[in-house]
Amino acid sequence: MSNTNYITEMLEMKDNNIKFYENCYHKEKIKGVYYKVFDGVLSYKPTCCPKCGVIFDKKIEKHGFITSNIKLPNVSGFKTILRLRKQRYLCKHCGKAFTLRDNVTNYGCFISNNTKYQIALDLTKKRSEVDISKDNNVSTNTVERIMDSFYNSQKLYKNSLPEVLLFDEFKSVKSANGAMSFHLCNGITGKTIDILEDRKLLSLLKYFGKYSHKALNNVKYIVIDMYSPYVSLIKKLFPNANIVIDNFHLIQLISRALNKTRINVMKEDKKNYNKLKRYWKLLLKSKYELDFEKWKKFTCFNSFITESDVVNYIINTNEELKQTYLVYQNLLSSFKNKDFNSFSYILNNHSNYISNYMKTSIKTLNEFKDKIYNTFNTNYHNGYIEGNNNFIKVIKRIAFGFRSFIRFKTRILICKGLISINKKMVNV
Ligand SMILES: [Zn+2]
Repeated sequence: MSNTNYITEMLEMKDNNIKFYENCYHKEKIKGVYYKVFDGVLSYKPTCCPKCGVIFDKKIEKHGFITSNIKLPNVSGFKTILRLRKQRYLCKHCGKAFTLRDNVTNYGCFISNNTKYQIALDLTKKRSEVDISKDNNVSTNTVERIMDSFYNSQKLYKNSLPEVLLFDEFKSVKSANGAMSFHLCNGITGKTIDILEDRKLLSLLKYFGKYSHKALNNVKYIVIDMYSPYVSLIKKLFPNANIVIDNFHLIQLISRALNKTRINVMKEDKKNYNKLKRYWKLLLKSKYELDFEKWKKFTCFNSFITESDVVNYIINTNEELKQTYLVYQNLLSSFKNKDFNSFSYILNNHSNYISNYMKTSIKTLNEFKDKIYNTFNTNYHNGYIEGNNNFIKVIKRIAFGFRSFIRFKTRILICKGLISINKKMVNV
């Protein structure tokens, strides 16, 4: 193998017109950093003049060289440069000079396509753009440009929807239109389908309007939280869909009500303040999961008692808290046992002494009762969303926030593998 073959093979350059001669490699200190520098020469006979289009003849003459430093991916941890001397030609037909083009970079760019590909690969990992730009020896703007090129070249497929959909939202970036962004998932696999900037009814109508009737008709179940615009959206656009209220959100609704009640009691009860504050988790726990056998020393309590004793003590400090707690526990077990009859019985026959917070929650549950019926009778849930939302949080944190929603979304989709890369796409 010749020198040229070794080096083009090693640097993975697909350009037969670049030649490497003896002593073509040296190390060089640039701005205090050692670089590996490869000196190459690009020279070949062009087929025509790119300025006027005349086919190559004697009137197109060699016209010296121009040297450019092209950034390559790192070699053995060293920043690497290809110092390419490119042949220039002067065309006497049109009087203009031109430089030969190479396959290592795009025209007019000093970052090799291999580097761009490396950046595109790095973007699929959970790493910040700043780190990626440092590792690849480019600016963060370049990284962002490469990311944008991904997004522009790929549109998500808009003509099919799975039978089960999950609607959810997550806290978006500051620049986004709405405070909450909309997250659409496949209800069976849990995979993200798309992410929208806000979850207002109008934007959702506009978005789902792009899907074909066939796709919309295909949806049989949609899992949502108790957010009424979703209900109007589904009634308008999804003729065959049954609404399922997510189990997690149901429990969240009643546990928040109980928590707020506890805090109100806590603020007024100076004597039991610490106990009410400390053992909030035990109150939320299902009463069947409380330990009633193991005697332990609990902080704030003097004698040895069990978990269920602690709960009993706390709820007996206040009648309203006690009644609210009982309703909470009954609802919780009806959710856990998927017992719709007992659920609707509790909604209509609860004590009048429960707190206003719980009354509001029960009112909401009553409003969504027919949809909650589906929750009890299907196994679809929003369980995947929690994992997805954690993932989004991680992406947001490693980037120390995103200024643009589009980039934030693109990054999520790249990291989730929903838009994939190929070398041709990296065209910036
Ligand atoms: Zn010409």
